Amino acid sequence: MNDLPDIVVIPNNTQEMVRITKVAYRHEVPLVPFAGGTGMGGGAVAWKGGIMVETKGLNRVLEIDEQNMTVTVQSGITIEVLNAELARHKLWLSHQPESKQACTIGASVGCDNDSTFGVRYGKIRDCLLNAVIVTGRAEAIRVGQRKASFSSTGYKFLDLLVASEGTLGTITEATLRVVPLPEAREVRGYLCRCLNDTARGLERLLGSGLAIESGHANCRNRLHFYTHSYRERYGREPQLPEWADAILFLSFAGDRDIVAFSVDKATRIMVDEFNAERVGEQELVEGWWDSKHRLEFVPFKQKWPDSQRQKKFGAAGMAGELGTFVDVQSL
Ligand SMILES: Cc1cc2nc3c(=O)[nH]c(=O)nc-3n(C[C@H](O)[C@H](O)[C@H](O)COP(=O)(O)OP(=O)(O)OC[C@H]3O[C@@H](n4cnc5c(N)ncnc54)[C@H](O)[C@@H]3O)c2cc1C
Repeated sequence: MNDLPDIVVIPNNTQEMVRITKVAYRHEVPLVPFAGGTGMGGGAVAWKGGIMVETKGLNRVLEIDEQNMTVTVQSGITIEVLNAELARHKLWLSHQPESKQACTIGASVGCDNDSTFGVRYGKIRDCLLNAVIVTGRAEAIRVGQRKASFSSTGYKFLDLLVASEGTLGTITEATLRVVPLPEAREVRGYLCRCLNDTARGLERLLGSGLAIESGHANCRNRLHFYTHSYRERYGREPQLPEWADAILFLSFAGDRDIVAFSVDKATRIMVDEFNAERVGEQELVEGWWDSKHRLEFVPFKQKWPDSQRQKKFGAAGMAGELGTFVDVQSL
C-alpha cells in the first residue's frame, strides 16, 4: 500500500467522467475524486491506488436562473469562485465553509459541510436541489427535485449523496438555491462574564427574529486568541474590562434599515438581559470577521500560521503531484 493513485485524470464534463468510470469498472480499480484537498477525513486519499479524478476541470457555472433563484454548476467549482460569479447578479450562495477558497461544491455535498451562516441558512443539504452523479457502473443519473419548491412521496436519493464522500460515485453537476446578496452587513462583539451567558444570549437572539446571519460564542481562551491577534496587528492592548471572560461575535445582514434595527435591538438585549458590554474597539471584531469570513488576517500566527496557509488552502491542483496525468481522451 503506497497511498498513491496509479494515474490522475481531469474530466471536463459528465460524459468524460462516464468514460473514465467505465475504464475503472472494466479493470476493477478504485476511483477516487480529489477536489480542494482540504477534507479532514482522508476520503481523497487513493489508499488502494487506482484512478484519481482531479475535479478542477469541472469548474463551470452552467446556469444562473435569477427568476427561480438557483444556480447550476459543475461540481469542481470552488465556493469562492462561484460566489464571485453570483455577485455580478446580486446573488450569493449562503453556504460558506471557512475553507471556501479551496472547497468545491461536489466535496461540500460529499462531506456534508457546515457553513459560517448555518444558523440562518442551514447546511449544504438545505440549498441543494438536485445533482448529477456518475455511479460506479458508469451510469450518469440526476437525483433530487426540480427548481420549484414541492413535496412528494418516494425515496430521496439526493439525501444519500450528502456525506457519501465519493463512495456512491462522482458528483459532476449540482443545482443549488441562492439568495439575494445582502444590501448591508454589520459585525458586532459582546463581552460577557461567562461562556454560558454568550450561549444563552445567542439562543435568545436567534429566537428574536432579528437579521442575524452568524453567531460565534467564544470561551476565555478564544477571547485571548483574538486579543493576541489584535495586539500583533495594531501593536497595542485592546481596552477590555477585567471581568470579561467570554465573547459573543455576531454578524447581521439584510436590508440596511433592518440591519440597523437588528444591531440596536441585539445590543439592548445583550446589555439589559445578559449584563454584557458591546466591544468598543471595532477592530477587534473586524479581526474575528477577517479570520472567520475573509481569511485575510495576516498576523494570524496562532490559527493558521502563514506556513500552513498554503498547505490548507493550496491543495487544489496538487493531485498531479500524486500520480501520472493521463489524458481522458486516451482512455
Ligand atoms: C482551514 C480549513 C477550514 C475548514 N472549514 C470548514 C468549515 O467551515 N465547514 C466544514 O464543514 N468543513 C470545513 N473544512 C473541511 C473541508 O474544507 C470540507 O470538508 C470540504 O468539503 C472539503 O472540500 P475539498 O474540495 O477540499 O475536498 P477534498 O478534500 O478534495 O475531498 C473531500 C471528500 O469529498 C470527495 N469528493 C470530492 N469531490 C467529489 C465529487 N465531485 N463527487 C463526490 N465526492 C467528491 C473526496 O473523494 C473526499 O472523500 C475546513 C478545512 C480546512 C483545512
